[in-house]
Amino acid sequence: MKKTLKEQDPEVYNIIKGEEKRQEEGLELIPSEIAASSAVIEALGSVLTNKYSEGYAGKRYYGGQEFIDDVETLAINRAKELFGVPHVNVQPYSGSPANFAVYTAICEPGDKVMGQSLPDGGHLTHGWKASATSKFFDTIQYHTDENGYLDLEEIEQLAKKHKPKMIWVGATAYVREFPFEQLSKIADEVNAYLVADIAHIAGLVIGGVHKSPVEYVHVITTTTHKTLRGPRGGMIMVTQKGLKKDSELANKIDRAVFPGLQGGPHDHQTAAIAVALGEAQKPEFKEYAKQVVKNAKALAKELKKRGVKLVTDGTDNHMLLIDCGFGRGTFLSDALEEAGITLNKNTIPRDESSPFYPSGVRLGTPFVTVRGLREKEMEKIADWICRVFEEMKEYKFPKIKEYRAKVLEKFKKDVKQNKELKKIREEVRELCKEFPLYK
Ligand SMILES: *Cc1c(COP(=O)(O)O)cnc(C)c1O
Repeated sequence: MKKTLKEQDPEVYNIIKGEEKRQEEGLELIPSEIAASSAVIEALGSVLTNKYSEGYAGKRYYGGQEFIDDVETLAINRAKELFGVPHVNVQPYSGSPANFAVYTAICEPGDKVMGQSLPDGGHLTHGWKASATSKFFDTIQYHTDENGYLDLEEIEQLAKKHKPKMIWVGATAYVREFPFEQLSKIADEVNAYLVADIAHIAGLVIGGVHKSPVEYVHVITTTTHKTLRGPRGGMIMVTQKGLKKDSELANKIDRAVFPGLQGGPHDHQTAAIAVALGEAQKPEFKEYAKQVVKNAKALAKELKKRGVKLVTDGTDNHMLLIDCGFGRGTFLSDALEEAGITLNKNTIPRDESSPFYPSGVRLGTPFVTVRGLREKEMEKIADWICRVFEEMKEYKFPKIKEYRAKVLEKFKKDVKQNKELKKIREEVRELCKEFPLYK
């Protein structure tokens, strides 16, 4: 029983070590990622993973729950206090299942639901055509305007025309503050449930650097592994406004998660969520959240100074979207990866290319902020990004499909051999050594 992973399974052990090294020595700028604390990871790797505990505290289908009930109750109470909500469910396995549970709690199959379109920054689960949500519900997508801001006029028109049962607000690639108040007026007018999906910004909401949706929406979902800095997981919260609309809403949500959609909760994950929420109660967490936004604004300023085009010309949160030109997101994300900087290709509003070859890249500051990087280092990152862009400037993404394979092939070869990218890779490694993650 007592063998270490290294002794028992060196193959898996070495893969994990490889990933650890990759994270230590590179700059992670994917805005949905962050380095959880060692305490969170310790709780995640605990014997709580051995337990089955279908049901809720005090109402379980299996015995031996005294500690599991304690940890789930603790996580719930911490979340209630932090967000200021009367009801929380911490059992969703992740953000997507949390969202699906909300659909099944509030809607009947075939009901109309509105959400932000995926190419405009919305999440798959908000009704995008490739998502199961659009199979079981009649989903209507709203958009951003040509400047990249939510198009409130269109949202109002669509809401009045379709009278949806439920409206999502929240996104996965949106750099401005969400207009919760305006959307609540629209939702109230058509008697729709308004659900805020704060997966990306939960940590910023707790930190007081993004407006809280609590006053304006009926239900809130979030992941726990993005700016909240916990393990992978999800939560669903019901607000006072939600309970006022339907006094049974909290029970409906709980029943939708279990037994509606899931079986046994992941208790080790629940414990790690409790730990992350405990960290979020400390004053340092507010400092961290503020710094995440400060860093993003500093990075935006430095990039703009160097002539980089940003969607909406800046940011209110932890995230930036760079407009790279038609279909060029892949070139830039792949070249940056070669230089030790990881971000992701992403569509930009009114993208004329496709989600697989989008015209933008998405980047953010949570991960680099927790490892201690500040405004000064954002300047360096902006420099590196621009040097990589300079190397890639001759690569244009062909509008004609038949020409693409050849261009991509040449690009892939060139990127591997590019000396400037190798040089930047070394410089990035040097900086990372100054800001260790777990060492
Ligand atoms: C990340 C994200 C989700 C989904 O979370 P998963 O844990 O990946 O399932 C849902 N909604 C939004 C807005 C997100 O950004």
